[in-house]
Amino acid sequence: MKIIMLGAPGAGKGTQAKQIASKYDIPHISTGDIFRANIKNGTELGMKAKTYMDKGLLVPDELVVDLVVDRVAAKDCEKGYVLDGFPRTIPQAEALDAALAKNGENVEFAINVEVPDENIVKRMSGRRACVACGATYHIEHIPPKTEGICDTCGKELILRDDDKPETVLNRLNIYHEQTQPLIDYYNTKGILKEVDGTKDMADVFNEIVAILG
Ligand code: ADP
Ligand code: ADP
Ligand code: ZN
Repeated sequence: MKIIMLGAPGAGKGTQAKQIASKYDIPHISTGDIFRANIKNGTELGMKAKTYMDKGLLVPDELVVDLVVDRVAAKDCEKGYVLDGFPRTIPQAEALDAALAKNGENVEFAINVEVPDENIVKRMSGRRACVACGATYHIEHIPPKTEGICDTCGKELILRDDDKPETVLNRLNIYHEQTQPLIDYYNTKGILKEVDGTKDMADVFNEIVAILG
């Protein structure tokens, strides 16, 4: 089961991808998480990526494509995977398709989590992420049991720098310019599925499960 999550920043891709990964027992591959782990570990890739991420810009395709193509070729991806945050541009989608086609494979589901722009800034300013395990919460909609503390690992929750409103607006513009065209790209391929991301987290997940079977 090879799944791609599409949607604006803050639409709930990560939240849903984690549940899909757990239900279908496939890896959740988040390029944002991979970059953040590299930044934390001070790698060269992390330092390069950070200059773009801090401004709300996309990291250049050449820094992300090989990384993902290698990752999906790993043993644990044999049964499939859920890609969250990749592809984000048409060239990234084409590169993924070309790499898969070499082995006679293809993406099976592109799930677009639809949330209007008006809701996004609120979603992002309420997002809190765990510094240690990457779990995400929302101060109003999906609060942790204890304020500011991760339910899973007990570490501190923070507001990501790039979730502050001024950066979010940049990220939304870039989403519309560079990532939204992927909706047509996958629609043309006949694998686009739309879900209403404004519903409660559990209802969105039920819609997705109905699609994946
Ligand atoms: P969100 O889902 O909230 O938009 P992510 O965690 O997916 O955020 O990504 C955070 C940042 O990492 C992006 O704003 C971008 O700078 C960078 N990034 C992640 N994935 C990609 C990608 N596939 N291509 C380019 N940049 C990426
Ligand atoms: P993305 O990966 O698309 O950037 P996230 O999954 O990180 O988005 O979700 C963005 C924010 O919205 C987080 O704070 C998350 O807890 C919250 N969220 C996710 N799904 C829902 C939902 N269905 N309703 C309300 N808030 C949600
Ligand atoms: Zn945690």
